[in-house]
Amino acid sequence: MTKTSLVDFHCHLDLYPDHQTAVERREKAQTYTLAVTTTPQAWPQNRDFTAGKRYVRAALGLHPQLVAEHAAEIVTWKKYLPETRYVGEVGLDGGPDYKHSLPKQKEIFADILQTCAIAGDKILSVHSVRAAKGVVELIEANLPVNRGQVVLHWFIGSKKLITRAIAINCFFSFSADMLQTASGRKVAAMVPLERVLTETDAPFTKLPDIEYAVELLAEIHKVSREAIQEAVTQNLKTLLV
Ligand code: MN
Repeated sequence: MTKTSLVDFHCHLDLYPDHQTAVERREKAQTYTLAVTTTPQAWPQNRDFTAGKRYVRAALGLHPQLVAEHAAEIVTWKKYLPETRYVGEVGLDGGPDYKHSLPKQKEIFADILQTCAIAGDKILSVHSVRAAKGVVELIEANLPVNRGQVVLHWFIGSKKLITRAIAINCFFSFSADMLQTASGRKVAAMVPLERVLTETDAPFTKLPDIEYAVELLAEIHKVSREAIQEAVTQNLKTLLV
């Protein structure tokens, strides 16, 4: 792992107009990329396009925003789980359009966490829009610290919740878009550098720019960009051990 490699720990390469080209570009740019997915139906193509890649890994997901209509796909998700170490995008969404399905989302997310705990050694990228507390509680209850690792993606929560998430070894991934919001900057200032990763959440974000995320993190933590990049590189190593 070289110091100059950037890390994008949450990105939807399969939602780009040309999925395969998007994977090849990341590989060529030597950007360590976690390609998350929203439904297990997308898994075979993601698995095949990332097979043998050095920098791009695919994660098996079941997005909380899809749970209302796609909960039955948990069966397919479980079928594919042995094929990957990476899980995402999973989690909870308590936003106005999705809170009606929160009970079902909680049931599915708990099942996913328990299944990962049994399997062991999985790394999860977790969504928590307006559900930060529910997400932390479910992880605490269902995924013992020695049975898997969680990266909280675009996590907006209180100092108390951040402390709880750190106590169960969670990492946090930050995008430039998130770091341009007051709430995102506040969270970033409270997360210690040894738990920080970068992401783009592309193609949904306005600024899918990892170097800019690094720059904003440097500004918030009052350290150099190199210090942030070193921390992120080290954190990725720690996570992948
Ligand atoms: Mn996403």
